[in-house]
This record gives sequence, C-alpha cells and structure tokens, in this order.
Amino acid sequence: MRIKLVAGNWKMNKSLEEGTQLVSDILAQLPPLNGRVVFATPYIHLSSVAPLLKGREGVYLAAQNCHQEEKGAYTGEISASMLRSVGVDYVLIGHSERRQYFGENNELLAKKVDITLSKGIKPIFCCGEPLEIREAGTHDDYVAAQLEASLYHLTEEQFRQIVIAYEPIWAIGTGRTATSAQAQEMHAGIRARIAAKYGAEVANDTTILYGGSANAGNAQDLFSQPDVDGGLIGGASLVAADFVAIVGAM
Ligand code: PEP
Repeated sequence: MRIKLVAGNWKMNKSLEEGTQLVSDILAQLPPLNGRVVFATPYIHLSSVAPLLKGREGVYLAAQNCHQEEKGAYTGEISASMLRSVGVDYVLIGHSERRQYFGENNELLAKKVDITLSKGIKPIFCCGEPLEIREAGTHDDYVAAQLEASLYHLTEEQFRQIVIAYEPIWAIGTGRTATSAQAQEMHAGIRARIAAKYGAEVANDTTILYGGSANAGNAQDLFSQPDVDGGLIGGASLVAADFVAIVGAM
C-alpha cells in the first residue's frame, strides 16, 4: 500500500531548546493524519525529540545522514546502529547538499542505503537534477541513473522499504518551486522506471515525495497530483504553522 508522508528536514538549524519547542508546537496543532509525519532533526536533537513522539501514531523520527560503515575509527561520524538505538525510523540519504558539499556520490550512497536497511531504518532516498541538466532536457535520464546506481541492487523486499524524494536542485531553498505539472511528470516517470525494474505492484506501492520550496501555499496543488505522495520540506518545516498546514494538505 502506498503511504503518504510529509517530512521536515531541519538541516543545520535550531538549538536543542528551539527544536524541542518546535516539535511540541507542531504536535499540539497536528490535524488528523492522512499519512505519516517525519521529523528529520540534527543528530544532537534526536534523543530529546524521540520521547516527545512516543505514543503519537503516525509520527516518526529521522536523521539527515549516517555513515556507511558499521562502526570504527571514523571520528565525528554517526552509525546507523547508533541512530537505531535512539529510536530513529528513517534516514535521509543522498540529499543534494550532501552530494554537493560533502562529495557523496551514487556508489557511496548505495552503501549508506545498505547499512541503513540492515539496521531496520528506512531510507528516504533523495534524487534530482541541477538546473543545467533540466535546461538540457536530460533530467529524466539523470534521475533514472541516480536511482539505478544507488538502489537497483536491492531485492524487491528491500526496495519496498525505500521512500523516494524527488528534489530538483534548482528548486531547493530557492523559492522556485517546480510546477505541479513538472512534479507530476517526473514522479510518473520515476514510477514507470521502478515498474520496469521491480514490477507495477512495487512501483504503485512506492512513496514518492516532492521537495524544493514546497510551502503552505503550494502544497495542496503539488500533493493533489496522482504520483506526488507528499513532500520533503526544508525551510517551511522550521515554522510550526507552516509545517502543520503542509501536513494538512497531505
Ligand atoms: C530540502 O532541503 O530538502 C528542501 C526541499 O528544502 P526547501 O524546502 O527549503 O527548498
């Protein structure tokens, strides 16, 4: 069954006090849920946010990254087992900012997907094209190659744990949202590629989120598209009223 989902990616924002307050404010205002709500907080917030989510049906905790190795001498890094031990349910893998600023490539991301799945955490796998690729008209193939290189080694059972987030890089943090028609076209294309690899049933069950300057004003339009199953929300997830309105549009 396809699950609708809205995830807030806080990136490197909010002190611990501000972050726990934000979660409390959002939880106090959440409408009846039509899907899942995910908080992707900074690492140091996870242990404090986890108890706030306990007993709240449909609300989940996510990290924004994890290391690809099991454990060891990787100073400053956090493993998937550590994340699981504090109650993390989802992890963002391959956000464009990780690819751009931290040199994460498709092969590395495949390893992160594997370690995450092996610990019982669901990857939210981010893909999307830069502006020059969109302008060249090759965005479809570009995104398909990202999926193939990082995900298509998975078994069907493993792939069923994956959430895809299509995030055109030119739309992230820019205020330039993809139109709902552009989002629908890409999401339908991604679903068709998944169908070709894993079959129509798996493709139909896969949650595909849109990310890129989604906000309280445009979420309804984006989420009403048949292949847009929710959103990965950056800036607008930092304001309780905005995030709650986006969840309400799910
Ligand atoms: C993101 O960081 O995943 C994102 C979609 O950011 P924004 O909503 O701010 O464009």
